[in-house]
Amino acid sequence: MAPSLDISGDFPILARQVNGHPLTYLDSAATTQKPRVVIDAIRHYYERCNANVHRAAHALAEEATAAMEDARAKVAALIGAGDAQELIFTRGTTEGINLVAACLTGRFGPGDEVLITEMEHHSNIVPWQLLCQRTGAALTACRVTPTGEIDLEDFHAKLGPRTKLLAIGHVSNALGTVNPVAEMIDAAHRQGALVLIDGAQAVQHLDVDVGRLGCDFYAFSAHKLFGPTGIGALYGKAALLEELPPYQGGGEMIEHVSIEHTTYNQLPYKFEAGTPNIAGAIGFGAAVDYLGGLPLHALREREASLVNQAISHLKQIPGVQMVGEFRERVSVVSFLVDGGHPHDFGTLLDQQGIAVRTGHHCAMPLMERLGIPGTIRASFALYNSATDVERLVAGVEKAIEFV
Ligand code: PLP
Repeated sequence: MAPSLDISGDFPILARQVNGHPLTYLDSAATTQKPRVVIDAIRHYYERCNANVHRAAHALAEEATAAMEDARAKVAALIGAGDAQELIFTRGTTEGINLVAACLTGRFGPGDEVLITEMEHHSNIVPWQLLCQRTGAALTACRVTPTGEIDLEDFHAKLGPRTKLLAIGHVSNALGTVNPVAEMIDAAHRQGALVLIDGAQAVQHLDVDVGRLGCDFYAFSAHKLFGPTGIGALYGKAALLEELPPYQGGGEMIEHVSIEHTTYNQLPYKFEAGTPNIAGAIGFGAAVDYLGGLPLHALREREASLVNQAISHLKQIPGVQMVGEFRERVSVVSFLVDGGHPHDFGTLLDQQGIAVRTGHHCAMPLMERLGIPGTIRASFALYNSATDVERLVAGVEKAIEFV
């Protein structure tokens, strides 16, 4: 028998009502809902083996350490990292990118460039601005086309011997564009640049293999992948991580400390100062296990077809304009409606129990490039169904009657 594609029952929150209506959750690009197994794993840790990791010789500490390191191995395997020592636990994508920007500071100076795109989330813009302020390097952004894709001609024109780092999103959170990262990584490496990929929106929807991509760093967040908030991961090539200075100082990241001098711990602990988010890491591992038990291929196909259905139905509503028209898209449907600000539509949809996000989606330069104040964004995940699409379309039609 074919496995059921309705997994919504695994997510307790999806059974609730909002404003008197069944919840239609279409904000998974902001954060995904959590399956019961993830919630249970976190509860189990606190109820059964709460202890600090790595530093004590008692049973609870050993259990907590084993559970956390097991989670690290699972998360590393999920993205094809060759070795769990290349997987640093962070607070999320934002911290992963800031970590790289902080640790690479000594490699940059006047005349060097960081290349990004106009499509980046603010977390993949501001850390590079700060790096440039510290070092005198320059930040350059390659253009996005009016249809919402990276302008590859402009990318190749801007990539050059001065480019020391290329930092790009794998998937746009605002539009859902899947960027041609493999081609861009190869081109950047040919110029001798390092490459960081912001994978926040990719890991749930694509099979990511950092070994095959060949990127130097890959940052992502557990909460966009059915895991808890406050935990994420940064992949980095071991040889490179070995060369970099530590990010923060404190316990755990050291091998030996005297007042005059400190030697650092081995990877990945050199980059994990202080008590880590142990419960979060364990919840992250549970989310990876959960994903591994799903008929992922079939679920992703269904999700893609829901996104296409949503686009084709919304397009037929008079006054609705889709934002972004491109070859490869996942999860996100961004649109505008004539005669009303996106925020008004967000409120009118919320009154019908439909959760979407409105505004600039932390991508102000992209909105500026497209000449719009923001969009209404419906973002899908593996637990959404055709009913969610029907409710969205009916909800937009109803909202239009009010404005
Ligand atoms: N990059 C992209 C593309 C995102 O969508 C997000 C979150 O929306 C981030 C980075 C930042 O992720 P976090 O807030 O989990 O650090």
